Amino acid sequence: MEFGMEGRRAIIGGASAGLGKACAMALAGEGVDVTIVARTRDKLEEAASEIAAATGVKVTAVAVDINTDEGRRAVLAACPEPDIVVNNSGGPPPGDFRDWDRDAWIAALNGNMLGAIFMIRDTIDGMIARRFGRIVNITSSAVKAPIPILGLSNGARSGLTGFVAGLARETIIHNVTINNLLPGDFETDRQKSYTESLAKMQNTNYEEMRKIRMAGNPAGRFGRPEEFGACCAFLCSVHGGFITGQNLLIDGGKYPGTF
Ligand code: NAP
Repeated sequence: MEFGMEGRRAIIGGASAGLGKACAMALAGEGVDVTIVARTRDKLEEAASEIAAATGVKVTAVAVDINTDEGRRAVLAACPEPDIVVNNSGGPPPGDFRDWDRDAWIAALNGNMLGAIFMIRDTIDGMIARRFGRIVNITSSAVKAPIPILGLSNGARSGLTGFVAGLARETIIHNVTINNLLPGDFETDRQKSYTESLAKMQNTNYEEMRKIRMAGNPAGRFGRPEEFGACCAFLCSVHGGFITGQNLLIDGGKYPGTF
C-alpha cells in the first residue's frame, strides 16, 4: 500500500524515545521530513541520527519543552508549515488524588491537555489553507478505562479528548483530520518506570511485576513501539482522510468491552 506521504513535513513531540520516536521513525520511513522534539538534547540528537540513517529523510531536532510557549515557538520556527502534527510528551506521575494540589493539577493539564490544544491552535489554520492536515494526539487507554493511580492522566487527557471531539468535525471538510491514539501497555521507558512503581507498591521486584502485567494482557505481552508508529503513519497517510474525531485503542485487547 502506498501511503502517499513523501515530502510531507511533520512535527512529533516527545520523540527521542518510546512512542513518539516510533511515530517519527514510521513517518520518516514513508518519506516524511520530521522535526522531532524532546528536552534532553544528547538523547534527541542520537534519535535524530538514528532516524536519518534508517530512512534518509531530513530530520530536524529541537531540544525544548513542547509544553511551554517558548518551546512551541522554537518548534514552529524550525517547521513553520507542518502537514502532520503528533502531539506527545511525558505522562503525569501516579499517586493518590488527596496528595495533588493545584500546582500538580495545573502541570498535568498543561502537559496532557493544553500543550496539544495550543499546538493545534498554532498549526491548524495553515493546514486548512493548504487543504491537508493530520493531527494525532497520543493520549492513553486511561481515557477509555481509567486507571485509579493515574488520576491526573485520566482527568487531563479526557479534557483533551472532549475538546478534540468537537473540533475534529469542523476541520474534516478541509481534509484536516484530528484523532487520538490510546496506547495500552507498550514497552517503553515510561512503561518501565510505571512497572517499577507498581512493583514497589506490591512489594515485589520489577521482573516479577513485568511478567504479571504481561500475563494480564490477552496478547500475553506488551506492545512494541513500532506497532504503534505504524498505526500513526496510517492515520497520517492519504488513506486516513475519512477518519476523524476517533479514539483508537491499541492495547492487545486488554480493554474488555465490545465497543
Ligand atoms: P517515554 O518512553 O517516557 O518517552 C517520552 C518522550 O517524551 C521522551 O522522548 C521524552 O524526552 C519526551 N518528553 C517528555 N516530556 C516532554 C516535554 N515536556 N517536551 C518535550 N518532550 C518531552 O514515554 P512513552 O511510553 O513513549 O509515552 C508517551 C506518552 O504516552 C506519555 O504521555 C505516556 O504517558 C503515554 N502512555 C504511554 C503508555 C505506554 O505503555 N508506554 C501507555 C499509556 C499512555 P525528554 O524527557 O528528554 O524530554
